[in-house]
Amino acid sequence: MESRVLDLLYPPRCPVCDGLVPIRAPRCHPACRTKLTPVGTDTCMRCGKPVPEGAAEYCFDCSSKGESSFERGVSVFLYEGDIRDSMVCFKFHRREEYAAWYAEELLAAQGTALRGFAADAVIPVPIHRRKMRHRGYNQAERIARNLADGLELPMYADYLRRNRFTVPQKELSNHERVRNLMRALERGPQAEWLRKQHKTPRRVILVDDIYTTGSTMEACSAVLRSTGVEHVMVATICIGGGYV
Ligand SMILES: [Zn+2]
Ligand SMILES: [Zn+2]
Repeated sequence: MESRVLDLLYPPRCPVCDGLVPIRAPRCHPACRTKLTPVGTDTCMRCGKPVPEGAAEYCFDCSSKGESSFERGVSVFLYEGDIRDSMVCFKFHRREEYAAWYAEELLAAQGTALRGFAADAVIPVPIHRRKMRHRGYNQAERIARNLADGLELPMYADYLRRNRFTVPQKELSNHERVRNLMRALERGPQAEWLRKQHKTPRRVILVDDIYTTGSTMEACSAVLRSTGVEHVMVATICIGGGYV
């Protein structure tokens, strides 16, 4: 009942074209869905970026970077064209309801891997409170909430915190970017609370909207590991195809 009232107040919109979709129809127009490029099955074993068919197990990035704090990455779409516009709408134009469809697609494309990882919890990449005030919500947390519901796992939105506002520094090397980001992160009150209960999750799915250089995921995973988390899988909706 409640969801039907919400549907009348906020008629469902297609996350690709932002047009209205009939109530009880799929969340995304089938024709719009076909415009998107799935990452496919030939992907890097570490980060989930597409690799040329039959190529090495790891992408150029991952094979040159060495050890990382997360074990595996999964994503759904290549970050280009229509899904890029959808993500902009989701992040900057208050279309937070798109998150339900993103999580649905993530589960449809990567459900086996996500379930097979046997996680104890889902944790979103945090954003700084200044961004949160401006945007109204943390986009990663919205996806994480829907994914956690689908996987029937707890979601800890306040396990990691962003304590400093960082500007993207493209001129920095990947290693320097990770170090900078790590300094901007800290364990949140939920990490402390769970530690005291001896309930620190051992296996965590870390969620963000987009994977590009991987430095955000690396920094967050490293901080998660420092709290006692042993295994991290990273899940995103979009992934860049290029290498930095
Ligand atoms: Zn559409
Ligand atoms: Zn990779």
